[in-house]
Amino acid sequence: MNSDTELRARLLNRRSELAERVQRIESDLGHHEQPPPADFSDRASELDNLEVLEALQVEGRTELARVEGTLARLDRGEYSRCTRCGGEITADRLAALPYIDSCIDCAD
Ligand SMILES: [Zn+2]
Repeated sequence: MNSDTELRARLLNRRSELAERVQRIESDLGHHEQPPPADFSDRASELDNLEVLEALQVEGRTELARVEGTLARLDRGEYSRCTRCGGEITADRLAALPYIDSCIDCAD
């Protein structure tokens, strides 16, 4: 198995994990659309949970988008090409940051 194949398998795995998680969060969030509990303290903790869920949802979607972007670059054979300058992204950098799409010179 070459490293691209291995990486692709890992990304596909991660993608389905994330998709499943985001879906679960979204269905949890859907349940919160029911009327909130009347008791104030219940309601406060309900709102806390909602914020946590929403943060997780955003996080999951962001990573999902990165995984998909990375898969698309792999498909085009441009995984190690910097999207900004077209230069090579070093293997060390990719190993440390698998979704990175810019070389060290173009990084903010
Ligand atoms: Zn660059």
